[in-house]
Amino acid sequence: MARVEINSESCKSCSYCVISCPKKVLEIGDKVNSRGYLYSVAARPEDCIGCALCAQICPDAAIEVWR
Ligand code: SF4
Ligand code: SF4
Repeated sequence: MARVEINSESCKSCSYCVISCPKKVLEIGDKVNSRGYLYSVAARPEDCIGCALCAQICPDAAIEVWR
């Protein structure tokens, strides 16, 4: 099964990953990181297909995908 992992401290809340995910796995959560940004979380991790579009589009290299 594919797994997506987000480094919350690297996230700047741009939402690119949320918009790019074809399975709507990701959401901007309700917690802030140490830099004051709401960070992206895998709200529906079981739906991840491992396409890695989110990791490719993230400008801050905050996402890793395993498959
Ligand atoms: S790897 Fe693909 S399906 Fe999984 S969270 Fe990223 S964009 Fe969505
Ligand atoms: S694309 Fe990267 S920086 Fe932007 S919200 Fe997603 S994880 Fe955060």
